Amino acid sequence: MLEVRNLEVVYDDVMLVLRGVSLAVPPGSIVALLGANGAGKTTLLRALSGLLDVHDGEITKGSVTLDGRPIHTMRPAQIVRLGISQVMEGRRILGELTVEENLRVGGHTSSTSHLDRVYALFPVLKERRKSVSGYLSGGEQQMLAVGRALMAGPRYLLLDEPSLGLAPALVGQIRDLVLEINRQGTTVLLVEQNATMALSIAAHGYVMETGKIVMDKPAGELLADEDIKEFYLGLG
Ligand code: ATP
Repeated sequence: MLEVRNLEVVYDDVMLVLRGVSLAVPPGSIVALLGANGAGKTTLLRALSGLLDVHDGEITKGSVTLDGRPIHTMRPAQIVRLGISQVMEGRRILGELTVEENLRVGGHTSSTSHLDRVYALFPVLKERRKSVSGYLSGGEQQMLAVGRALMAGPRYLLLDEPSLGLAPALVGQIRDLVLEINRQGTTVLLVEQNATMALSIAAHGYVMETGKIVMDKPAGELLADEDIKEFYLGLG
């Protein structure tokens, strides 16, 4: 189980951005983390992956544990080795490298089985494996970013807004892929602005507002509650 307890994060020594966040991602599940721009969702993912340092952020209180073991003091590479991989928002692929080179950068071992799994999930990446990544479409680049994270063979996949900027048809494809990745045994924490999509596949949903969790319910209940939809999810 991946667990966040009472987490407080500060940027630049002064700016309190997470104000005591607690959240649990049980093995095998899809958990959705929702909330408006600036609520602190990306910051929470950075805390889980050990990437706060790079952004002048720091955990000032609370803990992140994996199966009871504290990981919030670990380096990013160590966290990846323990089985947690993050797909960055905005894709962050290396545009001048080919598709396959990008995938191999993501794998810490030269694991052919991971590459085969990624190509089976994303046949378009196999077709384009020798193409320069910068020329892929937005949707393909997003798939490549997810594929790269899967190359580490994670038990937990952290996805930061995979549907951002994609056409509705592609959003449906990403949704199906997240479901399939989960079905194959990877636990998913899905950060999304697209609340309907995320809640349609998640077991549980958390809603964040200005650095706090304000809602924590089974996804079906969040979707069914008209007030929540209107006030927190912008679906009213
Ligand atoms: P978005 O969907 O826009 O990414 P978010 O919910 O992921 O929103 P965060 O990106 O975590 O929110 O940002 C939370 C707050 O922290 C915002 O007020 C943002 O301006 C601030 N913030 C984010 N990164 C930094 C940073 N490196 N230094 C200072 N402040 C930051």
